[in-house]
Amino acid sequence: MAAEIIDGKAFAATVREKVAAHVAQLKAQGITPGLAVILVGEDPASEVYVRNKGKQTLEVGMNSFEHKLPADTSEAEVLALIERLNADPAVHGILCQLPVPDHIDEAKVTNAIAPEKDVDGFHISNVGLLATGQKSMVPCTPLGCLMMLRERHSSLSGLNAVVVGRSNIVGKPMAALLLKDSCTVTIAHSRTRDIEALCRQADILVAAVGRPEMITGEWVKPGATVIDVGINRIPAPERGEGKMRLVGDVDFASASAVAGAITPVPGGVGPMTIACLLANTVTACSRINGLEEPEGLTA
Ligand code: NDP
Repeated sequence: MAAEIIDGKAFAATVREKVAAHVAQLKAQGITPGLAVILVGEDPASEVYVRNKGKQTLEVGMNSFEHKLPADTSEAEVLALIERLNADPAVHGILCQLPVPDHIDEAKVTNAIAPEKDVDGFHISNVGLLATGQKSMVPCTPLGCLMMLRERHSSLSGLNAVVVGRSNIVGKPMAALLLKDSCTVTIAHSRTRDIEALCRQADILVAAVGRPEMITGEWVKPGATVIDVGINRIPAPERGEGKMRLVGDVDFASASAVAGAITPVPGGVGPMTIACLLANTVTACSRINGLEEPEGLTA
C-alpha cells in the first residue's frame, strides 16, 4: 500500500495559525513579539531565506527587524549589533543567517546571542540544555520534524529511530529530541557500517545527509515513518536545458511504496522550518515576559 504523504505545507500553515493566535493574545497584553534577522554579505540563497522569514514574520503579526550588512563588516561590528539587540526589549528573537563570511567566527557570533533570544537554538547553552533533556530553544528544522512525528504517532515511546546525519543543526538535535520522547535512537553517518540494514530496523527514519535520493525503498522497514530533511538540486534535462529540480535524500518513488508515511521534497520538512522559527520567537517572547507558553509549539 502506498504511504501516506505528510503534507508539510499544510502542517506549516496550521503552525502559523497557532503562532498568529498566540501573537494576538500577547498583543492584547501590550506585547508585540519581534524577530531580528542579521544577514552579512550578499549570498543569493540567504537573501531569499531572509526575505521569506521577514514576510512570514509580519504575516503572523510580529515585528520584523532586518539588519543587512555588507560582506566586509567586521566581526566586532556584528558582535556590537548583537549586543544592542540582546538589550533591546522590542526584540525577542535574534538569528544571524549562516553561513557568515570567512573572516567572521561563526561560533563566536552564535554564542554572543542571548540564549533566551536564540531562536535558532544554536547557542552552546541551548545545545547543552537540550542534550540534558531540559527546557531550551530548539533548532527549527528538527523541531518541525518532531511536530510532524508527534502528529502521526500518538506516542513515540519505545519506537526505533534512526537519524542519518550527525550535523549540529539537524542530526544531533533531532536525535536528542527523539531520545527525549523516549525513542531508541541510533545516529548513522558516513562511517556507519551496513547502514542499509540499520535503517531497515527503523520505525522512524530521518534522513539529513545532503546526498540526492541516497535512501531507497530497500532501506525502509515496511510501515515506517520516513522524514526527509534533504534538499538537493539536481539537473532536470526533461524540463529543458540547464533546468534543475529539487529532490530529498530519500528516493521518494521507491520509499513511498514501502513506508507507512513519508514527507515529500519539496513540500515536506522545508516549509516547517520557517514556521518553527516563528513558533520559537513567540515561545521566546512568552518566556521572556514570564507568560504561559503557546501549546503545541515547543518540544
Ligand atoms: P551536513 O553536511 O552538515 O551533514 C551531513 C551528514 O550526513 C554528516 O553527518 C555526514 O556524515 C552524513 N553523511 C554524508 N554522506 C553520508 C553517507 N554516504 N552515508 C551516511 N551518512 C552520510 O548537512 P546538514 O545536516 O546541514 O543538512 C543535511 C541535508 O538537509 C542537506 O540536504 C540540507 O540541504 C538539508 N537541510 C534542510 C533543511 C530544511 O529546512 N529542510 C534545513 C537544514 C538542512 P559525517 O559526519 O560522517 O561526515
